Amino acid sequence: MRSDRILLLFLAVFLAISPLRAQPPDDLVLQGNITGAQNNTYVALPFSVPAGTLRLSISFDYTGREQKTALDLGLFDPQRFRGWSGGNKSSFTLSETDATPSYLPGTLPAGTWRLIVGVPNIRASVVSHYTARIHFTRAATQPQSFTATALNSSAGWYRGDLHMHTAHSDGSCLSQSGKKVPCPLFLTAEAAAARGLDFIAITDHNTISQYNDERELQPYFDKLLLIPGREVTTFHGHANVFGVTRFIDFRAGTQDVPDESAWMRQAAQYGAVISLNHPNAPSGEICMGCGWTADPPADMHLVTAIEAINGGISEGPYAGVSFWERQLNAGFHLTGIGGSDNHNAPKPPDEPGSVGSPTTVVYAHELSVPAILDGIRSGRVFVDLTTSRNRLLDVTAHDAAQSAAMGDTLHASSRDTIRFDVHIIGCAGSRAEAIVDGKPDDAMPAQSIGNEEAVLHFSETAGAAHWVRFNVRGADGKLQLLGNPVYLTH
Ligand SMILES: [Zn+2]
Ligand SMILES: [Zn+2]
Repeated sequence: MRSDRILLLFLAVFLAISPLRAQPPDDLVLQGNITGAQNNTYVALPFSVPAGTLRLSISFDYTGREQKTALDLGLFDPQRFRGWSGGNKSSFTLSETDATPSYLPGTLPAGTWRLIVGVPNIRASVVSHYTARIHFTRAATQPQSFTATALNSSAGWYRGDLHMHTAHSDGSCLSQSGKKVPCPLFLTAEAAAARGLDFIAITDHNTISQYNDERELQPYFDKLLLIPGREVTTFHGHANVFGVTRFIDFRAGTQDVPDESAWMRQAAQYGAVISLNHPNAPSGEICMGCGWTADPPADMHLVTAIEAINGGISEGPYAGVSFWERQLNAGFHLTGIGGSDNHNAPKPPDEPGSVGSPTTVVYAHELSVPAILDGIRSGRVFVDLTTSRNRLLDVTAHDAAQSAAMGDTLHASSRDTIRFDVHIIGCAGSRAEAIVDGKPDDAMPAQSIGNEEAVLHFSETAGAAHWVRFNVRGADGKLQLLGNPVYLTH
């Protein structure tokens, strides 16, 4: 124990330090020197991990590389070896579910851990100064992410698939010799990248084993954001949970989890976005637990989104649109999203339910997990059922004094005339239709779209309407783009 070499700079609660800092403050900084006398030895740097730590992140730097000093890294918790990254990583992270490759995920026991510095080379006369910065995450109220930085810092529209399954649940595909096998998660990410998607959420049923694979893949897929997801799958419905890696007890109907709202409250406390999946799917022996039949009904205030479009089910009795619109008519503000529900990553792109079919397109201030989740919450979102890479549906509503985007609320008097500017790209020959409180509206008949880029103007007196949204349909009548509502209050 070379505790004399450890300078503990601070172990503090950073109550007042600015929220503007991009990186979390360090909870602990270990500094010291490695001298020539320590060549070819292992130096243990002990440090204390507090109880309740959910994630441990360490970054390490040292001087003397120009003099060929080389320092390796490894880690032991109070009981066991947790990994060795040698000289190949300067930062790493571990949590219950996932760890940087080289390290083992698992619970993080409180007590004395040791960061091991191996010294493969330091010249006799050289002194190398090292700094280890250690951060403990103790509360999971913020969205979890597999990357510390945004993959794209620009504001804009980002396209993704929010519902897919892999080997970690019931995703399957053909092996090298043609056998049906659990389908490796990598193939899902690869298919999404090939389709030009910006983000995906892999939503295996109830489990949390997928996150370690995603931790490994995220640096490789540096244009494809991997959003932590899972499909909470109960006997009375399925719902996606985004942005959380901790276990959520899904066993609704048991003593600890009396009903659906109980697990939803837990997920919400962890900062999750919750979306009800395929709510109008059949239930019973056709598809066990698939339709949303929660009784007592779940608290819809805990829900952010409804999967209006699932896989190839865009319209008809099993599509989720009517369920979603009933919730909107009941006064809830819920974002309509889509998800492929893909269970076979190599499925050809032109088949329903292939990766990216449908695509959910989200306006976000950057490409990061918190920003995409905030974008879903804000409701400036549309679903592209055509899996294009460029189609756009954006809406701005105006009255004399204000304007509002999809997901926003326009405060209007019932006599106000409201104008809707509907910006559409990539849909020449299609038509745009207005939906008011769940129905087509005589005052705003459908309009043809003449150009590849068009802004159509619709207007009507606010009257008693509570929300207005727009769809785009092809010349064959098929739904191409599904828009989210602008809400009206009177
Ligand atoms: Zn499902
Ligand atoms: Zn599913």
